Amino acid sequence: MSYETRNFINNEFIPGIPGKSFPIFNPYTESKICNIHEAQQEDVNIAVHAAENALSSWSTRNANERAAPLFKLAQLIRQNAEELAILDSICMGKPLELLKRMDIPACAGIFEYYAGCANHILGETSLGMKSFMNLTVRQPYGVVGLIIPWNVPMIMFAFKVAPALITGNTVILKPSEKAPLSSLKMASLIIEAGFPPGVVNIVNGDGPTTGSAIALHPKIRKISFTGSVATGRKIMRMAADSNLKNVSLELGGKSPAIIFEDADIVAAARYTHFSINHNSGQHCQANSRVLVHRKVEDAYMEELKRLASQVKLGDPMDKQTFQGPQVDGPQVKQIIDLIDHGKQDGTLVMGGEKHPGTVTNHHNRKGHFVRPTILLNVSRSSPAYQQEIFGPVVIVNTFDSEEAAIEEANGTEFGLFASVYTKDLERAIRVSHAIHSGAVGVNCSVPLRAVDMPIGGWKQSGIGRELSLHGLNMYTELKTIFLKYGSDETAMASNWHTE
Ligand code: NAD
Repeated sequence: MSYETRNFINNEFIPGIPGKSFPIFNPYTESKICNIHEAQQEDVNIAVHAAENALSSWSTRNANERAAPLFKLAQLIRQNAEELAILDSICMGKPLELLKRMDIPACAGIFEYYAGCANHILGETSLGMKSFMNLTVRQPYGVVGLIIPWNVPMIMFAFKVAPALITGNTVILKPSEKAPLSSLKMASLIIEAGFPPGVVNIVNGDGPTTGSAIALHPKIRKISFTGSVATGRKIMRMAADSNLKNVSLELGGKSPAIIFEDADIVAAARYTHFSINHNSGQHCQANSRVLVHRKVEDAYMEELKRLASQVKLGDPMDKQTFQGPQVDGPQVKQIIDLIDHGKQDGTLVMGGEKHPGTVTNHHNRKGHFVRPTILLNVSRSSPAYQQEIFGPVVIVNTFDSEEAAIEEANGTEFGLFASVYTKDLERAIRVSHAIHSGAVGVNCSVPLRAVDMPIGGWKQSGIGRELSLHGLNMYTELKTIFLKYGSDETAMASNWHTE
C-alpha cells in the first residue's frame, strides 16, 4: 500500500522543507510505517493564505452549491471505506472491523447530515421595535483552524470539517501526528469531490511545531480543538495571547455509569464492558467509573469479569479481534502508572499489566497491549480515580443511596457523559437531571451518537457543542441588523423608548 505523506494546500500535495519530517509507527507490529512531511510556521502561513483566497467565493456560494461537494465526499468515503479503515487501523490499532462498521459510516453520515443542513443556517427576526424590522444573520468566521486527536481520526475529521465548510468557512486541519494517514487520503477525495482549491488545507506535525502555529496564527479567527485537557488549556492561552480567536474545546472524560439495584444487571455489564474496552479504552466518553448499588455488586462483578476474561486481544486486521493495541508505548506507560495508583488506593480484581503482545520478532513479542483491567473500591482522591486513564481500565465503586451515587458521579472535574441503569423511569429522569455532564444514557452506554443531537462537555470536559444544528453555531459569528423602515421621528422615538 502506498501512503500520501505530504501536506495538502490549495488542492496540491506539497512536500515540507527537506529534513523536516517525522516517523509514524504501527502499534501492533511496532515497525515504522513511513515518514510524514512536517509543516513549519511558513507552511502554515501558506495554507492560511490559500484559505483566505478561497474564502470569498466559497462563503458566497448558494447553500446548495456548498452542499454538493459534501454529499459527493460522503459517497467517496463509503466507496473508499476499506482503505480509510486500514489507514487508521495501522496507525492507531483499532480493529479493522470496528472501523468499517462504526467510524467510516459515521464519518460519511456526518458529511451527509451537514450537507443537508445547508439551508438551515438561519437567524431570527423581531418586530419588537416600532418602525424597525430587526434580524440576526449567521456568517462564517473566515479561516478556521481544526486540531484533532488520534483515537477516532475519521470521526473527528467529519465532526469539524463538515460543519465548518457548510457554514462557509475555509479550513486548516491538523490531524494527530500519530494517525495522519486517513486525513491525507481524505485530501485526495476532497479534490475528487470537487472542492475548490484552498477550501480545505491539511498540515502535518506535532503540537509544539504545527499545532501552535495554528493556535497562534493572527489570521485564523476560530479554533476548534479536540484532545486532552492539558492541550486544551494551552490552546486557550495561545488564542488569548494572539488575536483572541474564538475557541471551542472537546476534551477528556471520566464518565460514570450508575447501576441501581433494580437494573438489568446482565445488560448493564454488557454495555459498560463494551464501553470501556472497545477501542482499547481510548474513547473520551467511555464509562471508566462504574458506581454499582451494594446489593447487586456481586452479580455485576461476576458478569463483568466473565466478559472481560473473554476479550480477544490481537491483530487489528483479524476479524475475531475485539481489542487491538494501545496507540503507543508512552500511552501504555501512562496507563500502567495510573493502574499502579489504583492498586495502591483500591483493589485490583483483574488485569493490571501489559500484555506481552502477539507478534513475534526475533524472539521478542511485540505490540502495545494492556490487559482489560478492573479495579474495585478505589478511593476518590486517587489519581486513578480523578484522571482520565484512556485505556481498558474500569473502576467499580459501590453505593447505598441515590444521593450518594449522584454526589460521587459528580465528583470529578470532568462532565462529558454519564449512564444510569434502572427500570424506574422517575428515578432515571431525576438522576439524569442531577448529573453534571453533556449527555446521559439511560440503560445504555457509549459508543452512542446521533448526528442530530449535540455532544460536548460540562466543567473541564470542554466548551461548545458538536453535531446537530448546535454544531453549526460553533462555526458562525452572529450579527444583528437593524432595518429601519418608518419615518425618522417614529424610529427615533421607538429607539429612545426602548432604551
Ligand atoms: P492531545 O491533546 O495530546 O493532542 C490532540 C491534538 O492536539 C493533536 O493533534 C496534537 O498534535 C495537538 N497538540 C498537542 N499539543 C499541542 C499544542 N501545544 N498546540 C497545538 N496543538 C497541540 O490528545 P490526544 O492524545 O491526541 O487525544 C486523546 C485525548 O482526546 C483524550 O483526552 C480524549 O478524551 C480526548 N478526546 C475527546 C473527545 C471529545 O469529543 N470530547 C473526542 C476524542 C478524544
